[in-house]
Amino acid sequence: MPFKSTQPDINLPKTTTIWTWLFNSPSSPLNTTNPTNLAGYTNVHTTERISYQDVKTHTTHLSTALVKNFDLRKGDTVALFSPNTIWYPVAMLAVTRVAGIISGASPAYNVEEMTYALKTAKAKFLMTVPGSLDVALAAAERAGIKRDRVFLLEGEKDGFVNMRGLLEMGRRYGEEGQVEAYELCEGERNKDLCAFLSFSSGTTGLPKAVMISHQNVIAQCLQIQQITPSTHKKVLAVLPSFHITGLVHALHLPILLNAEVYMLSSFTMKSMLDTVVQYQIGELLLVPPILIRMVRDPIVQGYDLRCVKRFSSGAAPLSEEILGLLEKRFPWTGFKQGYGMTESCSCITAHEPERYAYKYAHKVGSICASTEVKIVDEDGKELGVGEPGELLARGPQVVMGYLGNEEATRRTFDSEGFLHTGDQAVVDGEGMVTITDRIKEMIKVKGIGVAPAELEDLLLGHEDVEDVAVLGVEDEYAGEKPKAFVVKKKGKGDDGVVGRDILRYVREKKVRHKWLVEVEFCEEIPKSASGKILRRLLRDKARNGERSG
Ligand code: AMP
Repeated sequence: MPFKSTQPDINLPKTTTIWTWLFNSPSSPLNTTNPTNLAGYTNVHTTERISYQDVKTHTTHLSTALVKNFDLRKGDTVALFSPNTIWYPVAMLAVTRVAGIISGASPAYNVEEMTYALKTAKAKFLMTVPGSLDVALAAAERAGIKRDRVFLLEGEKDGFVNMRGLLEMGRRYGEEGQVEAYELCEGERNKDLCAFLSFSSGTTGLPKAVMISHQNVIAQCLQIQQITPSTHKKVLAVLPSFHITGLVHALHLPILLNAEVYMLSSFTMKSMLDTVVQYQIGELLLVPPILIRMVRDPIVQGYDLRCVKRFSSGAAPLSEEILGLLEKRFPWTGFKQGYGMTESCSCITAHEPERYAYKYAHKVGSICASTEVKIVDEDGKELGVGEPGELLARGPQVVMGYLGNEEATRRTFDSEGFLHTGDQAVVDGEGMVTITDRIKEMIKVKGIGVAPAELEDLLLGHEDVEDVAVLGVEDEYAGEKPKAFVVKKKGKGDDGVVGRDILRYVREKKVRHKWLVEVEFCEEIPKSASGKILRRLLRDKARNGERSG
């Protein structure tokens, strides 16, 4: 029998879209809160602010312009290629309002990476910012997106329609002329209506476009709302909006909670700490690399952080050592974690308020409402309390599958609707989950997933490389970094020279968090009879090397 949530089930709407649910349903804060008390998104660098009432109006105008002036249709994908900005959620909500699909991409991507993202997501439109325009245009051209389908989310540039222009176009249609929010047809369910495409390599292979439905996002917001104290009214948005954690917890959920979002477009410890103190933010949703800096970076000592009541962590493991240091350094704070993946639209487990204490902090919380978890051994046999095995999850937040990749979808989501996480975990007698290992290939660098297969593909194209395997090795700040085991082609030069050339090659072709930390040469890559790389053998080799080195 699967482990079940001890929370009451959520009351899940099945025939409404995210926009209608957030802005027009009886539970919407826009219907229950005095308009003057409505929260919104604040840009902490410029103090520009959009209240949720304005978000509703802007998204209506924007979707009207996109539909009427640019022929955006149901199922069309709009790629967002931008750092965090308060216009990011406006674009998101406008597109999904009319049943378009949003695909987020890291603003650090180079032309090749962005082209791959646009093509895989089959994007028809692209929204970006002036600083990313050159990469955006080059990638758009390669992906067949016309120049007049590239818009600016903020800022200005000759020859490009920007957000202000789009809003004006929509506004000109007047109240009567606004395009209605999409309504599901007879028999259509919001679990089958895709809202977002987010990239993840899942348990194996190249990054894939994960199809996230309207229902997934609504379900996750309700699951988290249920365990969020009503005092949670200020959200720090430092995590990237293109990643599922930022998308749900910093852009959508705050509307439901009527919580103010303080958005940072670029992260520095100083700008984050200044923001926390200036706005007296009580809960900080961070990832392990930033939490490590909270205890190690001397800049923190210059700030009075007594306003912080709680740290919240997710996206990657956090060591007990760092947890201990956090508790010692900030003894007045509590701690919570969420655990999940892009394929589960964020959390499968999360801490409940009764467990916001450091003694539970190394666990990733209890199973979310309306969710079941199975722990299975290598043969798929279900295991019981205290027995470690792969964690499988089923619930309304588990996504639709991978776009255009049925094989990976079948492999990852079984016939009973359980998602294979590729994480090893154990459930204790109180129903709390601890992640004990990662079985899948994915490397987590600063909380962002890196697919070994992507780097292996690239390196096989290097003139000196005969064979290669990439895996994650521990790194004090980033959590992990990719390392390549390389078999050189016969007669190729000195290890030092080739190694440096390989490091440079990756730096030139990939975004920073994918850069290799090291190259190790070997005679052969261990493989199974079917040709699969035996990563565990290499991982043990790397660990032993670390110990003896
Ligand atoms: P992503 O799809 O980028 O969100 O990556 C999901 C993966 O990140 C999970 O399958 C885990 O391996 C890891 N992960 C997420 N949250 C946690 C956590 N709280 N503790 C440990 N690992 C985590």
